[in-house]
Amino acid sequence: MTYQIYALKYGERDTKESQFFFREASQKPLTLHFFIWVILGGAHPIVVDTGCTAADAQAKELRAFVSPADMLAKVGVKAAEVPVTLVSHLHWDHWGGYSLFPGSTFWMQREELEFWTGIAGQHENYRSFAIPESLAQVVRLNYSGRVKLVTGETEVMPGIRMHWVGGHTAGLQVVSVPTAKGTVVLTSDASHFYRNIERRDPVQIITNLPQMLAGFEKIDALAGAKERVVVGHDPEVATRFDQVEPGIIKIA
Ligand SMILES: [Zn+2]
Repeated sequence: MTYQIYALKYGERDTKESQFFFREASQKPLTLHFFIWVILGGAHPIVVDTGCTAADAQAKELRAFVSPADMLAKVGVKAAEVPVTLVSHLHWDHWGGYSLFPGSTFWMQREELEFWTGIAGQHENYRSFAIPESLAQVVRLNYSGRVKLVTGETEVMPGIRMHWVGGHTAGLQVVSVPTAKGTVVLTSDASHFYRNIERRDPVQIITNLPQMLAGFEKIDALAGAKERVVVGHDPEVATRFDQVEPGIIKIA
């Protein structure tokens, strides 16, 4: 069984290298691209991460925002009918778009839910990455049976697996997918840029640095070749893979 994967870009934001990479002094500009991913070829589409809403995008000063639901429509997927959405972690740019998927069950690591609905709120450091209303909504969705909590490694559909790595957030997970090219790993924020994984160079938004470093090892082991690693926020995804139209990148 092999699957097809698209990375779908829904926005962009500019920052500086010094504000992003761990112990980096360079003031060089750095542009982040914001993506969701969709896996096709199985019994139904599987979406990885929800993106965010237009209101979140405005509040967080994203530019070139396109609703993740509109991007999915361009590859023939109706967001409202997607039954399974995998949530890499609960930062606003990965979880804020939950309302676009009213028919989904959201699969996330138990540790991630516990972290963001508990201890993270005690610390100013973590509050800026959370939108409390969207975290309150995870609790509501959990009580209405629409959250599936997993621990460690889980198979979602034959061959498609999620793997806990932590590091960037307590319960961050990556997704491995068998494709015609071999096993592709969608790292989400376990590696925002190719620089992170290829130079073993962490970012400064972390809950646990050794976990982030171990996550790089795990991603490489799962993918088996760096050509099959799809990182979370790097504009280079569009040039390393096949951009079929602006913002729509065929991974495999
Ligand atoms: Zn992110």
